[in-house]
Amino acid sequence: MRRSSHDYTYLMQRWRAVARGSGLRLVQIATVDGFPLYCLKSPALGHRSGLYLSAGIHGDESAATEGLLAWAQRFQSQMRHLPLLIFPCLNPWGLVMNRRSDAAGNDVNRMFHGDEHPTAAAVRETAAPYAFDSAMLLHEDYDAQGVYLYELTKRPAFGDAILGAVEALIPKDQRSRVDGRRARDGILRPRFSVKRFAEMGHPEAVWLHLRGCARSITFETPSEASLEVRSEAHAVAVARMVELWSMPAV
Ligand SMILES: [Zn+2]
Repeated sequence: MRRSSHDYTYLMQRWRAVARGSGLRLVQIATVDGFPLYCLKSPALGHRSGLYLSAGIHGDESAATEGLLAWAQRFQSQMRHLPLLIFPCLNPWGLVMNRRSDAAGNDVNRMFHGDEHPTAAAVRETAAPYAFDSAMLLHEDYDAQGVYLYELTKRPAFGDAILGAVEALIPKDQRSRVDGRRARDGILRPRFSVKRFAEMGHPEAVWLHLRGCARSITFETPSEASLEVRSEAHAVAVARMVELWSMPAV
């Protein structure tokens, strides 16, 4: 029988194999809601501005955790040469329970302004020694009508090229407003508002932006596609971002 995308033990079993095959170090960074929280670090991390990848901060978005793993399985031989910090699943309790929140009902993706939440504290501490050039945070949106992304950027943006790579699998969300904000061709570049984020709490992407990450991308897939297609969209999006990152700046 095929094991579920909400089986955290199975997810981490497969990441352990990726770590062995790629030469990345798998490190437990905390225990949250009874589950071990992990990151992977590549030998190249710290030598130059890094790449930050995460999934599963919302536990009901399992195409994100599967897609990040699928990308890693495919690019195992190249990963040790990339300056990678990877968080395979930031809300294991949520993944197992198929819930967006943690066990206490918190949206973990509103907790990155400080160290009061154990997940945010562990991630912030793990990332502290490193600078990041680009970050991709993988999510799903059950109201979406296609793929879309949020992009907080200080350098030439990757958003169009990433959605272009994914489009063959899932078309872009063409709505002009997404989540109450203006969107164009599947891309949201929200104006950064200190006040707004102070009220709602900092998402992971905002924390990365504020600590100097030049491109902080939140990628979203819609629920109507099958898990396989959604997962593949995440894998393709990550692959495209890494490819764009590795190209010399023009
Ligand atoms: Zn989400």
